[in-house]
Amino acid sequence: MKSQQNEPTKRFLSVSPEKCVGCSICEFACSLEKEDTLNPIKSRIRIIRGPPFIHLATTCRQCEDTPCIRACPKEALYQSEESGAILVEAEKCDGCNWCLEACAYGAIRYDKDADTVVICDLCEGEPKCKEMCPEEAIDFVAEESDIVKTWVTASKKWIDASEMLIKMTRGEGTADILAESKEIMERIDEKYLKLFGKEKKH
Ligand code: SF4
Repeated sequence: MKSQQNEPTKRFLSVSPEKCVGCSICEFACSLEKEDTLNPIKSRIRIIRGPPFIHLATTCRQCEDTPCIRACPKEALYQSEESGAILVEAEKCDGCNWCLEACAYGAIRYDKDADTVVICDLCEGEPKCKEMCPEEAIDFVAEESDIVKTWVTASKKWIDASEMLIKMTRGEGTADILAESKEIMERIDEKYLKLFGKEKKH
């Protein structure tokens, strides 16, 4: 375990809805790191796509009252005192999925192949999703209120985006949007090349 001195004991990953472009690279990076496969379905961070331009990613929030742990009839979940991460004892989990139902954030995934649930464990403090996100949208936070702040900022972006779309229907501002999109695509391509290059070595 890497040293986490001078950092809050408990912290979890937050994805800025203002920056996220819904590219799925975090999902690919997670599945490659944790399951040795490039398959978003196997990821512990998931993108929620809302029309027309809202992209959110969700992962474990490490709730204070841990409803997932309380819901598990097999005592297969516990919270790391060191990192605050909710950890799974796969051999105890029988796949009843009660913890999934207890999670308000949709952050727990049932892995059908392994017949166990999987939850973000923060990659020992160096999450691959955070490292690979082309928009630097993923970061550690310590409080739920930090997430609320990102939503407030994002709501302004969504208003701006609505105005942009209205302008586009009048044939205005299209060149600017395309130029910005091109830059985003270049950053995404760079990360995809890195990820798929890694997969080939396996
Ligand atoms: S990699 Fe970053 S920008 Fe892409 S979907 Fe994940 S959080 Fe959003």
